[in-house]
Amino acid sequence: MRRALRKLREAAVFARAMASPHHPVLVQIVPVRRCNLACAYCNEFDHSSAPVPTPVLLRRLDRLIELGASIITFSGGEPLLHPELDTLVRHVRRAGRMATIITNGYLLSPELIRRFNRAGLDYLQVSIDNVEPDDVSRKSLRVLERKLEWLARLARFEVTINCVLGAGVRRPADALLITRHARRLGFHSTLGLIHDSRGQAVPLDPESLRVFDEITRLHDSVYSFAHFDRFQRELARGRPAPWHCPAGGRFLYVCEDGLVHYCSQRRGSPGLPLEQYSLEDLIREGATPKRCADFCTISCVRQTAMLDEVRQRPSVALAELALRRGRTPPFLRFLYWLFFGHPLAPWLRRTLAMRLRSAGAP
Ligand code: SF4
Ligand code: SF4
Repeated sequence: MRRALRKLREAAVFARAMASPHHPVLVQIVPVRRCNLACAYCNEFDHSSAPVPTPVLLRRLDRLIELGASIITFSGGEPLLHPELDTLVRHVRRAGRMATIITNGYLLSPELIRRFNRAGLDYLQVSIDNVEPDDVSRKSLRVLERKLEWLARLARFEVTINCVLGAGVRRPADALLITRHARRLGFHSTLGLIHDSRGQAVPLDPESLRVFDEITRLHDSVYSFAHFDRFQRELARGRPAPWHCPAGGRFLYVCEDGLVHYCSQRRGSPGLPLEQYSLEDLIREGATPKRCADFCTISCVRQTAMLDEVRQRPSVALAELALRRGRTPPFLRFLYWLFFGHPLAPWLRRTLAMRLRSAGAP
């Protein structure tokens, strides 16, 4: 039942993104910059900062909710180092928005998983880089195995395992083992490409490319479907994957100081305080071309942009997606049918847009 309701809420996020072009679909917010690990490729953490006080974060969440944010993701640093993360999740869920967490998983415990269940967490992503720890990363299957079993047994939220390929990964074949293990436990799996210090792709070596192609064949979710076909294949081979990056509009990154940035790799742009961030800022920054776009590996922003492609050119975007893999995932097919495919679809879109406007959606 929980899963079915979550799917309905996901459909509502999609519908809202179709009807209203300016609210943020996805926001990443940093509740603590500190991390308990030090992965060699990472530039998103320190070893000293204190958690942002909960009342300050609650005010930031309220502002994001006012701006219309649909999905709020807690990242870091390591977000589980925030002692009241479940309170923050509950706040997001009580406002009717989706709440997700990206973690290295080290601090997970049965009690914490139960707290996230009670708070109504929607998704938790655990990043795993290798099977055995090495000097690049200690986000390792061997270390996290017991935590994953707890998640499989106790979590009432969806779990995604993200593994990475690219420069610095010693044993690319580990990504395949991790993906298969995730599947066995009933989790979703995603694959990220390691980027350089400016968020830009580095082409994969032949062995990593072979593993990449094999993992690509295993994925079949809506996002991975678009995700791989639309840009990862190009970037993995060192080719540009042009797009319009909507960061600053459809996607926001709110740092520990409460400033809005395009993403974790473009801190400082625009770097405006969240409490003053307005609809005008969303429209202007979302429309600003980003010079880093062609080789950008930040998949969550790419996925967010995909929604706007579907909104602006529904039949073209969906036909392109379908042609690339020869089939469209059932969820996407259903949404397409709901909003574009049957005789009452135009009425449904108009009604939804009117309701959203009267509910104050930007
Ligand atoms: S666990 Fe995550 S935040 Fe921490 S150093 Fe590694 S990649 Fe960075
Ligand atoms: S293209 Fe967008 S998401 Fe990618 S690095 Fe640049 S600002 Fe960030």
